[in-house]
Amino acid sequence: MTAESVWNNCLNFIKDNIQLQAYKTWFEPIKPVKLDKNVLSVQVPSKFFYEWLEEHYINLLKLSLNKELGEDAKLVYIIKMENSFGSSKSFTEKIPSQYKPKIKSQTIESSSNFLKSELTNPFVIPGIKNLKIDSQLNPNYNFNNFLEGDSNRLARSAGYAVSNRPGGTSFNPLLIFGGVGLGKTHLANAIGINIKQKFPEKTVLYISAEKFTQQYIESVKKNNRNDFIHFYQLIDILIIDDVQFFSGKAGTQDVFFHIFNHLHQNGKQVVLTSDKAPVDMQEIEQRLLSRFKWGLSAELQTPDYETRISIIKNKLAVDGVEMENEIIFYVAKHIKSNVRELEGAIISLMAQSSFNKKKITIELAKVVVEKFVKNTKKEISIDHIQKVVSDYFQMDVTTLQSKTRKRHIVQARQLAMFFSKKFTKASLASIGTKIGHRDHATVLHACKTVDNLAFTDKHFRKYVEDLTKKFSD
Ligand code: ADP
Ligand code: MG
Repeated sequence: MTAESVWNNCLNFIKDNIQLQAYKTWFEPIKPVKLDKNVLSVQVPSKFFYEWLEEHYINLLKLSLNKELGEDAKLVYIIKMENSFGSSKSFTEKIPSQYKPKIKSQTIESSSNFLKSELTNPFVIPGIKNLKIDSQLNPNYNFNNFLEGDSNRLARSAGYAVSNRPGGTSFNPLLIFGGVGLGKTHLANAIGINIKQKFPEKTVLYISAEKFTQQYIESVKKNNRNDFIHFYQLIDILIIDDVQFFSGKAGTQDVFFHIFNHLHQNGKQVVLTSDKAPVDMQEIEQRLLSRFKWGLSAELQTPDYETRISIIKNKLAVDGVEMENEIIFYVAKHIKSNVRELEGAIISLMAQSSFNKKKITIELAKVVVEKFVKNTKKEISIDHIQKVVSDYFQMDVTTLQSKTRKRHIVQARQLAMFFSKKFTKASLASIGTKIGHRDHATVLHACKTVDNLAFTDKHFRKYVEDLTKKFSD
């Protein structure tokens, strides 16, 4: 009996009892090192690995070892220490807590503080704990219900190609970008779901950039950054949603850079989404940006009228609701900003009709759509206000902001301040700063002046009315 032969028998047993993917992830990397009577020593890649095995597979390990080495079997883990990732420097022996009572004294040394540490997944990925590696994919987001249109054709077909040959196309990374509610999360999940169906043995992980960042910070706190890196390096298809979240976070960018390089070099697929094109990303390190551009950046645009109609029809079909074409066309015509709002309008329409037991009529649609469009109206920016006011008085924004005391320019400036106060949440001070570096008292004075003049001066009232209309279009 050798360490290899014992371990191989254990592996055969284990393999029959867990999913292939879990087996590959957690057992293939283990190396049998030595056998000393009934004590088998195996080498695991990291402390995290050890903790994971202890938490999830301890019974299985025990069973298999008992079969091979009898009731007194013991398992000793040897953890490959990764002082800097990728290179193994020293080795420490660790013993699983469950075997503690049986441990021989000499094997405990250097492991005392280790045994105290909890045996939990340091990255606290909800869902991952119970399943082997839960991909965290949303099964409701698949290719079948991701409707194709001109606005998404490139991104959709690139995503499809990637899911047929993950890591095997030149779309690596595949970066999907576009504004809110245009389907980035949906498409990213669809890619993952499709890969899982076609290649069940591959490890797919979907994670938001925000959660990734939190895990990273945790790992630094707990002093297991290397385990964090190691964990991510095990993934075959890594999908990170909303990478713009990495902006300004140098540590996370650095760690992601290393993970990315490792995965890319090993032919693993990386899929990223972002609300901006790489050229427009701010505070992302150059070396990372250049990686983003290695593969394909595909944009999701706002869906055209036809696509909006098919999205609505699909949603209705799925929910088994009937709606007259006239109403569908009406909604598709008026809600154009993004798919999420489109769906929101349809959902509230269905809800209204079922709660009030009313038929879905065009009148009801009008009411719902109106509320929807109003509620979701974007906040107007101070820049936009300055532009509209300057255009109205046929002057440049720089003139409007200048120090001049000319009456009509002063009035334009005061109107810009007044509308900024009215339509934005900005403070008086920040309005002042933006409109020609004035202080908050000036802005307050401007607002009062406009109120007064609108009351006393007919011409001036007309300005206020005209401009108000322009802002509410
Ligand atoms: P993003 O991540 O870009 O903000 P999401 O992926 O969350 O957007 O999409 C918002 C909603 O719109 C989701 O419910 C999604 O299913 C739906 N959606 C987006 N694009 C499509 C599409 N092409 N076909 C069907 N549904 C879509
Ligand atoms: Mg999203």
